[in-house]
Amino acid sequence: MSIRKATTHVNQNEGLIFEKSSPGKYAWKLPELDVPEVDPAKALGTAARSDLGNMPEVSEIEIIRHFTRLSTWNYGVDTGLYPLGSCTMKYNPRVNEVASRMEGLAGAHPYQPEKISQGGLLIMKVLSKCLIEITGMDAVTLQPAAGAHGELTGILLIRAYLESKGNPRQKILIPDSAHGTNPATAAIAGYAVENLKSNAAGMVDIPSLIAQTNEDVAALMITNPNTLGVFEREIAKIAEILHAKGALLYMDGANMNALVGKARPGDRGVDVMHMNLHKTFSTPHGGGGPGSGPVVCRQILEPFLPVPVIVSKPNGALAFDYDRPQSIGRVRAFYGNFGMLVRALAYIMANGPDGLRQTTEDAVLNANYIRKKLEGCYELPYATPTMHEVVFSDHLQTKNGIKTGDIAKRLIDYGFHPYTVSFPLIVHGALMIEPTESESKEELDLFIDAMRSIAEECEKDPKLVLEAPHTTRVSRLDEVTAARKPILRWKPQQQPAAAD
Ligand SMILES: *Cc1c(COP(=O)(O)O)cnc(C)c1O
Repeated sequence: MSIRKATTHVNQNEGLIFEKSSPGKYAWKLPELDVPEVDPAKALGTAARSDLGNMPEVSEIEIIRHFTRLSTWNYGVDTGLYPLGSCTMKYNPRVNEVASRMEGLAGAHPYQPEKISQGGLLIMKVLSKCLIEITGMDAVTLQPAAGAHGELTGILLIRAYLESKGNPRQKILIPDSAHGTNPATAAIAGYAVENLKSNAAGMVDIPSLIAQTNEDVAALMITNPNTLGVFEREIAKIAEILHAKGALLYMDGANMNALVGKARPGDRGVDVMHMNLHKTFSTPHGGGGPGSGPVVCRQILEPFLPVPVIVSKPNGALAFDYDRPQSIGRVRAFYGNFGMLVRALAYIMANGPDGLRQTTEDAVLNANYIRKKLEGCYELPYATPTMHEVVFSDHLQTKNGIKTGDIAKRLIDYGFHPYTVSFPLIVHGALMIEPTESESKEELDLFIDAMRSIAEECEKDPKLVLEAPHTTRVSRLDEVTAARKPILRWKPQQQPAAAD
């Protein structure tokens, strides 16, 4: 068995001791006072503190070791393969960081006058043009702070547009393979959600779509490629069916990593879509965020975009336009997560059109390489070709009592972050794997070896898998309690009170 050492980092002496404090230690030394002493209570009033409560008392090296050690307890895309399907956990190029930390950009204030914000405005303008070009759409807002936020913005645009025509309509159609944020978005935007079946190939079932599309339907929210990693080949026909009834087509663009440089949703009849800059365009994700979820749309939706939009003045200068009577208003303070816009533009410009197309091809190739090497070990519920991610099921392993979650836990012992477990919901016991283009063949081979050897263990030693992980500080956590009652910050330990 080839457990990779790199990610275990277990120092036998360190155990699980988190608290390092012991009385009287400190990590500072101040020079002798060379000014008259002031009574803190006089200077600060009630804000003055005479003791520091239960703050930890540690030396400088203990602090350094504490935080350095904690940083090694995590697993990130800088540590190894992070095949979390649907999340596109790709490498965050460091050149993005260099660009976004330039003083004039990182230090810019959102209320500084337009005259001295021309650089920042130009960055947003150029990024806007790139996103419009990549998707084949007409207009954009960079404001939304994440994918789900982009969805809400997009559906609010559709609502405003339909309202301007006299009737916002009642329903949004959503395929059963959709991400959970889609129905949540539709509901928050005031629509009833109607489920749309997938066919045996894992695509939207056209006869069902025809039967369900009527004058009550505001839009269909489709993900393409969908969460099975399957390209919805009938996308143009789907758009036609909706448009014929006056409904619009929303595309969840979270999976654009499979399309950039190859196909443009705008050319296939999509009316509005969001992108996740923190997926497709390599800006940091999750704890490293914040996210960014720009929305691109067709001309008919442009008057409703959030304010402000960037315009060019007759003298060539860029400016924010707030005078847009049909706008849905703001969806976020200021202009979006500006630092992420800088990073995404740095990524796009560093790659150029050819580089972006290559990225897409490599992402799809990597997913198909994994698919080819693992079929036979894990069941493939849909035979339809795979794009940037591949979905297996645990069907072959359940006869030994092993489920997708167990296989994922065992993967941790092999030094990999788990794939996405139990999603999409239409695949019972799903293993959803998205390697992205970031990975080398060597890293993919290590992952494939690990997955194959786990499949073998499921036959020969199911207990080993069922009790995994074995190499981590803590084994199986109570995930429900962790989610419901999270402990998100350190608090001083309770001192045993003398009077109790
Ligand atoms: C990630 C994702 C979303 C949500 O994006 P966030 O940025 O996490 O809000 C929506 N749909 C799909 C298909 C996704 O993969």
